[in-house]
Amino acid sequence: MQKKIVIVGAGVAGINAATKLVDNGYDGSLITIIDKGNDPHNRLPEEVMTGMLGAGGWSDGKLTYHTAIGGQLAKYCGEDKAMELMDQVISNFRRFHPKPEEIFCSDPVAEPDFIKPYFGLRLFPVWHIGSNYLHEIAKAWYQYLVDKGVKFMWKTTAHNISFKEQSINISTRGIRTFAPVFEKYDELIFAVGKSGIDFAQQLSDDYKLPTEPKSVQIGVRFEAPQKYFQKLIDISYDFKLYQKYENVSLRSFCTNNNAAYVAVEETYGDVTYNGHAKKGEQFRNDMTNFGILMEIKGIEDPFKWSRDVVNKLQINKTGLYYSPGLTREPGLTSEGTIVSSSKISWMGLTYVEEIFQGYFTYIKDFIDQMNKVFEFGDDWGMYIPEVKYLSPEPLVNYTNLTLTEYPNVHFVGDALSARGITVSGAHGIYVAEYLLA
Ligand SMILES: Cc1cc2nc3c(=O)[nH]c(=O)nc-3n(C[C@H](O)[C@H](O)[C@H](O)COP(=O)(O)OP(=O)(O)OC[C@H]3O[C@@H](n4cnc5c(N)ncnc54)[C@H](O)[C@@H]3O)c2cc1C
Repeated sequence: MQKKIVIVGAGVAGINAATKLVDNGYDGSLITIIDKGNDPHNRLPEEVMTGMLGAGGWSDGKLTYHTAIGGQLAKYCGEDKAMELMDQVISNFRRFHPKPEEIFCSDPVAEPDFIKPYFGLRLFPVWHIGSNYLHEIAKAWYQYLVDKGVKFMWKTTAHNISFKEQSINISTRGIRTFAPVFEKYDELIFAVGKSGIDFAQQLSDDYKLPTEPKSVQIGVRFEAPQKYFQKLIDISYDFKLYQKYENVSLRSFCTNNNAAYVAVEETYGDVTYNGHAKKGEQFRNDMTNFGILMEIKGIEDPFKWSRDVVNKLQINKTGLYYSPGLTREPGLTSEGTIVSSSKISWMGLTYVEEIFQGYFTYIKDFIDQMNKVFEFGDDWGMYIPEVKYLSPEPLVNYTNLTLTEYPNVHFVGDALSARGITVSGAHGIYVAEYLLA
């Protein structure tokens, strides 16, 4: 007998799961999808995070096609299966696309010889769906699922879940009720994405869900004139250099060119750095910036460790800026103000090394080796620190992405630490295949 499946989140993961199910004969009337956002006819373009097709499926639509990017997938199902699942996601976008012939794949060439002795260069194919078609895709896809009998509950927020009672406490915007409303399930697919991160955290705390061990992700934001990196940018605009050691791996992260600005972020009261690029000739500054992030494994409480390091790297209530021989000054933000930072000399850098407890050597080596390839000499600067605080990832059974203690609750997509459309959709399909089997 088929079971009642409730999917919380009509994002990329949830929608791909439902599609796989009904494509394979699952009775659509046994599937309910709850989403706090709007259906594709009423969803406004500026509602970026919530509603039919979720976040990037509504506003961007670049489908990365490699298992090393976008979050964990091959870990659960192996490389070959992961690629096959990603193919299915891409084919779903193609299927509901009004002009599928306009989808194209950018597939950069092999790693150039000038990089090889020093770095790995991550080059991966990306399918470009075309952001101007996403809303039409969402409408066609929605109609298909409705025609198959799938029930959608829009503007409906899940507030709590009783795993024991197998019921979800929900409320619908604009509808007043005098008693709490519950939706029961036999199988639950939890696909709330980034906009549901607090909800996921609340469940994790309430149920004391075991989590995967996490690594520290910390480093600096590097900045230099673009001319030094042009030969690489010509091959790969958003290049990703990487190096791997035993417990530490380093990668360049989120590269910005042409009109590239360093951004100041405030996290837990401390200043950290990031970067973004602006569009339009009026913003051009011919700079390049990117994060150099270390992933450090084996630190006992990575969150506490990172926060402590970040906190100690503040002087005068802001982060630090270092340029060798003080050759460069902190740049301007896209708003035209100087990037908030306290300038330090090489002596200050000794202090930074101390705070990083030996790990800073990896970053210095990374920069030294970049200098051999790109020959920027002293014409560069770095903003310290850049950090990614990873949210805890619930521990799941790898065969069906269920919580280890609740075998009918499947976590998928960004709720399971995915970071992209293709991987999130693939999670959904992977779970659907399990339910079909
Ligand atoms: C602006 C932007 C652009 C992006 N561009 C790209 C890109 O080009 N390529 C790429 O690979 N990745 C991109 N991403 C990342 C990508 O969008 C996500 O990795 C992916 O959407 C995650 O899929 P998901 O289904 O897990 O979550 P989402 O797609 O975020 O969907 C989650 C859904 O859950 C609903 N929800 C949340 N909480 C609740 C609740 N309590 N009750 C009911 N419903 C709830 C939300 O309304 C939402 O519709 C982008 C992200 C953003 C924000």
